[in-house]
Amino acid sequence: MAGILYLVPTPIGNLGDLSDRIRETLALADFIAAEDTRVSLRLLNHLGLKKPLVSYYRHNTETAGPQILQRILSGEDCALVTDAGTPAISDPGEELVALCAEAGVQVVSIPGPCALVTALAVSGLPTGRFTFEGFLATNRKNRRAHLDSLRDEQRTMVFYEAPHKLLGTLEDLSNCFGPERRVSLCRELTKLHEEVLRVTLGEALDHYRANAPRGEFVLVVEGAPEREEAPALTLEEAAARVAALYAGGMGMKEAARQVADETGFQKKELYRLALRRAED
Ligand code: SAM
Repeated sequence: MAGILYLVPTPIGNLGDLSDRIRETLALADFIAAEDTRVSLRLLNHLGLKKPLVSYYRHNTETAGPQILQRILSGEDCALVTDAGTPAISDPGEELVALCAEAGVQVVSIPGPCALVTALAVSGLPTGRFTFEGFLATNRKNRRAHLDSLRDEQRTMVFYEAPHKLLGTLEDLSNCFGPERRVSLCRELTKLHEEVLRVTLGEALDHYRANAPRGEFVLVVEGAPEREEAPALTLEEAAARVAALYAGGMGMKEAARQVADETGFQKKELYRLALRRAED
């Protein structure tokens, strides 16, 4: 019988966040697939566990993924851990889950530390609807395309960012959404120097231009304000608008077509009423 792939979250800064279930799952797994075996070895030593470790990281997924899958198919249980937080969220775990799911292998996700959820919850911004955007690309063209696709996004947006790229990212976010847009910069979550800065993008730029960013960040950005719908016009008002466009030099037919598109009234009807107005 095939084994199971367990997704085991690890603390994002505070060892106190290791739950009993996390410990038990690591203890029971036949082997551990780790993003960085040195980081995971420290964690296992802390827990007093000795386990066979294999490497599974961004640049070996194509070779290591099928090997891990093969071991699971032959009956071993694997615990996947990444450097910190929940595997498969902005790390290569995503590909291993897809591979196992496709092969019909059971995947069990153990709930636990995750930078995205921790930041969103503390942000003070609306959490009812949000979109997780991960890291922005470093490639300029892809980065611009990503940001352009978010220009009208009304949901709260969550980004991961490394400290050395923070200023550039804040500049790009400010150019895209405007310096008045609210942002919560969640830094060093669960650690001794945890800090949540709730400011505008413009203020965040001023702050981090004066104080070099340090530590790990999650940026939670307010969504775009809801667009105000133009109040619906009555038929008479729509006809008056056609007449006004006509008086301004537009052809009557064209004006009627434009207002029909805007309001949903029939072009013919608008044309007839506007003509009568013009003749009165
Ligand atoms: N899978 C992980 C998770 O779910 O938490 C995230 C992995 S991603 C490669 C690493 C990013 O998570 C960092 O660049 C940072 O944006 C964010 N992060 C991780 N730990 C953090 C912390 N303690 N405080 C703030 N952000 C953190």
